[in-house]
Amino acid sequence: MDTLILDGKATAASYEAQFTSEVNQLTTTAEGAKPILATILVGADPASATYVRMKGEACRRIGMDSKRIELGDATTTDELLAVIDELNADPNVHGILLQHPVPAQIDERACFDRIALEKDVDGVTCLGFGQMAMGEDVYGSATPAGIMRLLNAYDLKLSGLHAVVVGRSPILGKPMAMMLLNANCTVTICHSRTENLESHIKQADIIVGAVGKPEFIKADWIKDGAIVVDAGYHPGGVGDIELAPLHGRVKALTPVPGGVGPMTINTLIAQTLEAGKKAMS
Ligand code: NAP
Repeated sequence: MDTLILDGKATAASYEAQFTSEVNQLTTTAEGAKPILATILVGADPASATYVRMKGEACRRIGMDSKRIELGDATTTDELLAVIDELNADPNVHGILLQHPVPAQIDERACFDRIALEKDVDGVTCLGFGQMAMGEDVYGSATPAGIMRLLNAYDLKLSGLHAVVVGRSPILGKPMAMMLLNANCTVTICHSRTENLESHIKQADIIVGAVGKPEFIKADWIKDGAIVVDAGYHPGGVGDIELAPLHGRVKALTPVPGGVGPMTINTLIAQTLEAGKKAMS
């Protein structure tokens, strides 16, 4: 069987070309106004700093602006809430990204939930999650929404398939499961307390690995002809799924790197552009 490679890098690049022309059109018609993403980085975690920088660069590549806010390690919940309130009230900011994780003394959930729904372009609020789960047209959590956009870009038929999502985090596993359910999949969610994980995975027509452990899901747990989505990324360029032996055996797979990662950032900028267009219309 030829395995289709779900190339997130190429898909994101082709969307970026489209977004660039949309931003051009917007700046012409809206007197030079550009959609702006505000990014908030709290603390000095180097990986988080890299992610925030990549998100700002992606904005600039398509002609949007980003406003970078950096706060110290000792920031309190109240201080962060005050920054979010200011950004919510600023008509020149169209999207807000609060980089996860924040330092332990901060109530991250309270801060995420303070982001105004219309500026929640990373899809992190409980309100946004609830509306997405109900099938409303809101901004989805960027990684699972990016996975759905990648699957759709390759026209893969999802309806009726049995999807197994391994992981139930608020930003990935849970919204992923709801999005697949909304796409008419039959969904099983597995997590650290799941018994007989291997037997669940063996039933999957679509498997999504969102565990955070290198090559934790073994190739021989995955059935022939499945669609394989690996959200993980670890040093050495491996994901959460043992991908190499699956080539030639499964219907489609996302490579690591170059699969899910580029689609996450692409979804963030797609949703910021959408928020900018709505605010300027
Ligand atoms: P997370 O918050 O650490 O969640 C991991 C999930 O895996 C939890 O739900 C946990 O279950 C489950 N799990 C842990 N051990 C397990 C086991 N032995 N068996 C079954 N399930 C187990 O991680 P995350 O933020 O969702 O990220 C997951 C992966 O995606 C990571 O590799 C991360 O780097 C990657 N990621 C990629 C992007 C991207 O843009 N490409 C974005 C975000 C995350 P419990 O709930 O029971 O603890």
